[in-house]
Amino acid sequence: MSFNVLADQGSVVSALKSALGSGRLAHALLFLGPRGTGRRAAARELAKAVFCPQRTEDLEPCDTCGSCRLVDAGAHPDYQLIEPDEETNNIKIEPVRELIARSGLRPLQAPAKVFVIAEAERMNEYAQNALLKTLEEPPGATHIVLLASAAEGLLPTIRSRAQLVRFRPLGSAPPARAEDLARVQEALGYALSGATAEMALPPDWPRLEREEALAVVDLLARYFRETLLAREGVRYFGGVAERLHGLSRLEQALDASKIESLLLYLGECRELLTSNINLRIFFGVFWGRLRAELTDARRLLTPGAA
Ligand SMILES: [Zn+2]
Repeated sequence: MSFNVLADQGSVVSALKSALGSGRLAHALLFLGPRGTGRRAAARELAKAVFCPQRTEDLEPCDTCGSCRLVDAGAHPDYQLIEPDEETNNIKIEPVRELIARSGLRPLQAPAKVFVIAEAERMNEYAQNALLKTLEEPPGATHIVLLASAAEGLLPTIRSRAQLVRFRPLGSAPPARAEDLARVQEALGYALSGATAEMALPPDWPRLEREEALAVVDLLARYFRETLLAREGVRYFGGVAERLHGLSRLEQALDASKIESLLLYLGECRELLTSNINLRIFFGVFWGRLRAELTDARRLLTPGAA
């Protein structure tokens, strides 16, 4: 996964990337926003980007090196996620003390340490007070990311010491038009049907306007991002995936890296469409590649098909 998956939180991604790029990522960050807006995924991608020795020019983690994989597996020694206790739903002082102790130590493998406190407003007062000192004088090479859905649960002194990163509620993306959704449904159904390349242009597609083609590409990208984030418990109520039908088997058949490659491809499509490409040529290429990307899923879903 990469920051791409957070495309609905464009301002978050650009703020984080600009901090990374300038080498001025704050020691304390507060990711504030409703549950299910991708805060946790953003914190993890941020850790990967801080650690990754092969970070791309675009400041994305490479996703394939040992470091990226360890963070994804929740097993990187310089990355720690603290969550509320299952029984009490509170974060007690002990894990916070442990975090504070570790923050004073050198990183073990990465250039820095990243600690994430999920539902930080669930820290009791002792825990928050203990953390405050570390936030006031953060040891070098430590980033503490607090995730919260309501700032009120946090001490004002904690809030004032953490750099605020606001996650907007999902669903504030422009509403999807029914006819664009129908085309997305058609595109996915067609790509999965095993139709041959020669047949690959549904009759009315070459007559689409550029704006309509862009809407389809954007909705496809939204659909795949939602599919990817759904695996992390992020739910888009009224999102694109919820409005398309009969695709749950496809979603299960696609692995994360395939979805990522589809998202990259759709990004390229968007660029092509905003340049002056001839739409007929565009759709010819578009269909071929979409079918190719979905080949494995198609084989999995319809054994025996090409
Ligand atoms: Zn990497």
